[in-house]
Amino acid sequence: MQRDGLRMPPVEEWETWPFDGDLRPRALEPPVERERPRSGEDASDCWRCQHGDEHAIWSDERWLLTSMPEPNGLPCVVLLFPRRHVDLGELSDDEAAALGRMLVRVERAVSSLPGIGRVHVCRWGDGSYHLHYWFMGRPARFPQLIGNFAAVWDDVLPPTPQDVWDENLRLVVQALDR
Ligand SMILES: [Zn+2]
Repeated sequence: MQRDGLRMPPVEEWETWPFDGDLRPRALEPPVERERPRSGEDASDCWRCQHGDEHAIWSDERWLLTSMPEPNGLPCVVLLFPRRHVDLGELSDDEAAALGRMLVRVERAVSSLPGIGRVHVCRWGDGSYHLHYWFMGRPARFPQLIGNFAAVWDDVLPPTPQDVWDENLRLVVQALDR
């Protein structure tokens, strides 16, 4: 375990930090022998590939747009998946060009919701193998909710009321189909 050299950024002074109270960096464990496999590396045990259009709010022959099964703190969070079982680096040139258009299209749709200040478009790719982009619409006019901690605030804020959540998804689909 390593503690030497670890730094504690002054997060308690950051307007966007969601928590109060004393913190210290967690000790850094030594590297493991090899990277852990991600969930669903093989299409036969990939949740997305095995569940077809489940949770899809919109789809076409190439893409699926899904929502989380339950509302969370941010008023609209949707995920974009290619239907094909690929990670980002495996897209063909044609798929990559189509992805660029889809990212803009979905960002525009979520941005069009009332009360949304910004849409964070995120791909981490360390959890599940099957490529997916997060679109996180954060509320406008809350300076604390700007930036990357919006993803943490999503789990801190009380869940969005179901009717607001459902209406936002409906409006996203309507904007995509426009
Ligand atoms: Zn898959």
